[in-house]
Amino acid sequence: MYLPHPNQKETNFDQADLTQNTHKSSNEILAQLLAEFVPKSQTIREVFIESSALRNLPEKLLHHFGLSKVTLIADENTWSVAGLAAQRELQKAEFTVEKILFPANPRPRPTVEAARTLSDKLYSDNSIPIVIGTGVLNDLVKFAAFKAGQSYCCVPTAASMDGYASAGSVLSDQGFKITHNCAPPKLILIDLDILGTAPSEMSGWGYGDLAGKVPAGGDWIVADSLGLEIIDPIAWPLVQGNLRLCLENPEGILKGEPEALQSLVIGLLLTGLAMEFFGSSRPASGADHQIAHLWEMEHHQFNSQPVSHGACVSIGCLSTMALYDWLLQQPLDQLAYNKSNYKTMEDKEAEIKYVFKQPEIAKRAFVETEKKHLELEQIEERIAQLKTVWPKLRYRLQSHLLPTIKLKSLLEAASAPIRARQIGISEDHLKRTIRAARFIRSRYTILDLLDQTDLLDRALLEARLPF
Ligand SMILES: [Zn+2]
Repeated sequence: MYLPHPNQKETNFDQADLTQNTHKSSNEILAQLLAEFVPKSQTIREVFIESSALRNLPEKLLHHFGLSKVTLIADENTWSVAGLAAQRELQKAEFTVEKILFPANPRPRPTVEAARTLSDKLYSDNSIPIVIGTGVLNDLVKFAAFKAGQSYCCVPTAASMDGYASAGSVLSDQGFKITHNCAPPKLILIDLDILGTAPSEMSGWGYGDLAGKVPAGGDWIVADSLGLEIIDPIAWPLVQGNLRLCLENPEGILKGEPEALQSLVIGLLLTGLAMEFFGSSRPASGADHQIAHLWEMEHHQFNSQPVSHGACVSIGCLSTMALYDWLLQQPLDQLAYNKSNYKTMEDKEAEIKYVFKQPEIAKRAFVETEKKHLELEQIEERIAQLKTVWPKLRYRLQSHLLPTIKLKSLLEAASAPIRARQIGISEDHLKRTIRAARFIRSRYTILDLLDQTDLLDRALLEARLPF
């Protein structure tokens, strides 16, 4: 999967790792990588992963925080899965334990407003915030602790997303989903027994989130080839170098086998670290996540429940893969561009206002889109550049991307959704989302390439999208 940066020596990190470690198991290789890179984090002091790890919580907290007063933050589900047990361990060790409990239904929403309210509570209290849970809860506490000037501890209850170790919290601000820079947890304590009891669909979400790194890597290769965002020699191999190892056992993940969950969770953690080291979510997020974020911004529900981040990414991932499959069939080196189809910023503004009915969201989308807008002359230059780089770019993409059919079968085996209708998204809704997704981030992806070459409409018509 790894492709070296053109300026680098032709070293294959993936191969190098594997040949040096042929006697080691996947998990040993991954654990070794984690042990090597956690000390490079600005904030994370320890990632402790073991069966029955919860027993070590008091000792680890004293070691890293030097305090014996904590605030456990959970929802009713995560409280019964791990919060109560954590409280018992802490009280046995004579900790003072406060708790903040969110309802299980409706689930808390990932908004800046909710995180600010939580931050005010944490600010006035000199205790260690400990989030018991994943996803939205972790994003809320990460933002709240950061704003309150406190370090926090994360005790995940499922391997369901990639945000444990990342230096960003994905929250909606006036309806617009954005990654806010925040410090990751100081301590991440992962009890494999607890992960094993999580509903298998939650691990499937984490698997979907991780699988999204395949097309996200494709997007970075495109941006790199066009000289827009150069591939980073540390963040890239951290995410892509061992992605296959982390994705190799979806059946084990579905069954909740500790070894398989461990490799999934380490893959997700390495992704978080890569985002921290690179300073943005580029190593882990491309068009796949832009598509997912739009559904999250719509508060999309299926069966009366918000559809999880990882499930949205799973469909975003397969949609982007389908677009890549289509793109790779096109002779872009012979592309003929029809100037009369050029879209001015005014055209895009009209489309943005049509797509995003809320003025605040439309305003933000306009700002993001304007950052990457090209005037007609620049478009012509971009197309000339693309024609030149296409043979090499196509080769790089083909070498990097897993076959879509393979990725689909892996996702299916992990019980992640592989068709949009499985999360209540129709064909029309899927196409509308793909078309709009490029507006919400200035980050260059395959969607921008298709738009700038005037191929987006044809791609949406002809690509084998997963509806
Ligand atoms: Zn994600």
